[in-house]
Parts: sequence; structure tokens; C-alpha cells
Amino acid sequence: NKTWILRARPVGEVKETDLELVEAPLAPLNEGEVRARTIYLSLDPTNRIWMSDMDAYLPPVGLGDPMRGGGLGLVTESRFDGLEPGDIVNTGLAHWSLYNTLPGAGLAKMPQLPGVPLTAFMGPIGATGMTAYFGLMDIGKPKEGETVVVSAAAGAVGSMVGQIAKIQGCRVVGIAGSDDKCKWLVETAGFDAAINYKKEDVGAMLDKHCPDGIDINFENVGGEIMDAVIARLNDFSRMPLCGLISTYNATDPVPGPYNFANLLMRRTLVKGFIVIDYYPRFAEGIQQMAQWLMERKLKFETDVVRGLENAPSSLSRLFEGKNLGKLVVQVSDE
Ligand code: NDP
Repeated sequence: NKTWILRARPVGEVKETDLELVEAPLAPLNEGEVRARTIYLSLDPTNRIWMSDMDAYLPPVGLGDPMRGGGLGLVTESRFDGLEPGDIVNTGLAHWSLYNTLPGAGLAKMPQLPGVPLTAFMGPIGATGMTAYFGLMDIGKPKEGETVVVSAAAGAVGSMVGQIAKIQGCRVVGIAGSDDKCKWLVETAGFDAAINYKKEDVGAMLDKHCPDGIDINFENVGGEIMDAVIARLNDFSRMPLCGLISTYNATDPVPGPYNFANLLMRRTLVKGFIVIDYYPRFAEGIQQMAQWLMERKLKFETDVVRGLENAPSSLSRLFEGKNLGKLVVQVSDE
């Protein structure tokens, strides 16, 4: 087997020397276990959080331990009734490994959906899709005619947030880091407008594209972008606080938000959430997202990097904004 081991806590951006790829023979399976060969490994901003020793929602990955990660795997061996070789499963919180050995109980077998590629299980009907769906619907509670702003809009979560908000009848403005992404958001994903924060004055563009103010800020980024949105929130607005990616590589304490007082004046609901808390409701979210997918109401992109050996170096794509849609490593063939 091949597995990435965490060797050092990264300082700033992840360096390849922070991890080491080790090879070891596979142990025989115990009763109730399943062996899955990774097809797609999910790379997520939260991988960076798990590598650090900050007080987070899960314990950090220990130094010398396999790097935590999930994805889709093909069952190659099974000693668990109900799963057999050839089944495709979501490996949940497993390892950055070619093969994962997992308890069969609780492993979800992926169904075949007509016209829906396997990669959708990493995006719209995977964890990032559920993050978008529950964060927006449960916390944002969009109403027809409202204005929704989403940051990291062309990423896995953001691209779904905007499209779900459109289905709910909202005006949707996305914030992203390139002209190509902004073009995709408006022309393909159906956003009403997109702002390139690397080139444009975000505040001025929000004033232009949100003439009635902002009812929902789906926050993925933090920092100055979040501040510009907070300054333009409406009374009784909602702010699902999903992520703060601009701060994950920070080596010094992060200041702000500077417009915090506006959350009081506007009586904004700010709610941090972690998608794993919604796990008991995933079936509901997957059913709805799968229906929209099959009705061709959701467009999605997958940014595929090949080879387990490229996992650590590819994580930087998320922090440099090189990915459009869900970033995955293809570890083996479908
Ligand atoms: P994305 O696919 O959105 O990739 C991250 C994107 O963030 C990049 O493509 C980049 O796009 C943007 N970005 C990176 N650095 C910065 C920066 N300094 N300023 C502004 N934008 C930046 O990743 P995900 O969809 O997986 O995650 C999006 C957010 O959601 C993250 O904050 C993540 O932590 C969070 N999340 C939270 C979950 C939860 O349960 N709460 C679950 C899943 C994700 P660009 O080109 O636009 O800069």
C-alpha cells in the first residue's frame, strides 16, 4: 500500500516535506472489514486545518500518522455482508492512501444515477454539495427575490450555493479570483453577476450589483472580502459562516472583521456550521441535489489531478485559486 504520512506541522503554505509517501504491505482483512482502492481522493481546504494543531472541530492529524482524507473507493476485498468487490463506496474519513481498510458498517454504497458521472459524488451530491445545500437552506433560508452573495463562488461549495439560490428565485452575486471564473459563473452557472476580487473594487461592485442590499452572505473566505459584504447587509440578514480560507495559511493572528458593529445594527444572524453535523440529514440533501442534477438544473466542474504522489503539491491549487469546481486527485481508474 502507499500512504501519505504527516511529518511536520506546516508553517504557512504546505510544503512537500511536511508529508512523506510510505509503502507498506497490506495486512489481511478482519471480519467485518472492507478494502477499498481509492479512485478519487478529495482535496479540501480543511486538510490544511487538520495538519495544524489549532483547536478545531476534529483533533489534528498526529505527527507520524496517515493524513486524513476521504473520497470514492472501489471495493477490492470484503469480509462484510452487504458489500462486495466491484461496489463503489464513499470512504468517509479515511486516509491519503491507495488502499483503505475500513469497517464495512456505515460505508455508503454509491448508487448509479442515469446521466450522472461518478465525480458528482465528490461535488453536488458529496460533502461539498451538502455543505452548500444545508448551509444555504437551513441557515440562510433564502426567500424569492432576496439577494445572495457568495465568496469563493467558483469553487466546489460556492458554485453550488449560487445555483441553489437561483433555483430558490434569488438574485445571486458571486465573488471569485479570475475573469474566467466570473465568466463561468454568469454564462454557465447562471449567476446574475460576478466580481473579480483580484481586479475590481469589491465594495463598489457590490453596490452596483446589489442595489437592494444583501440578504444572505454565504461566507467562504473571510478578511477584506467578508468585511465589504458585511457593510452592505440588510436588516434581518443571514450569514452562514462556512469557511475562512483566506486565513488558513496565516502565521500571525488574523484581525477583523472591522464591520462587526453592522451585524448588530442589521440584526444579522451569523451561524458557523460544520457539514458533518448534518450527516443524519444527508439523505434528504442528496435526494434533492440528485433530482436537480438529473433535471440539469445544476452545472458542476471537477478539477482532476492524477496520481496519489501529487496530493500534497496539489493542495496549493485551493489556496492559489487554480481550481474551478471540486478539486480531486484521481488515484486509480474508475
Ligand atoms: P473551493 O473549491 O472553493 O476552493 C477554494 C477557493 O477559495 C479557491 O479556488 C480560491 O478561489 C478561493 N480562495 C483561496 N484563497 C483565497 C483568498 N485568500 N481570498 C479569497 N479567495 C480565496 O473549496 P471548497 O468549496 O471545498 O471550500 C470553500 C470554503 O468552504 C472553504 O473556506 C472551506 O474551508 C469551506 N468549507 C466548509 C465546510 C463546513 O463544513 N463548514 C465544508 C466544506 C468546505 P479564487 O480563485 O476565487 O480565489
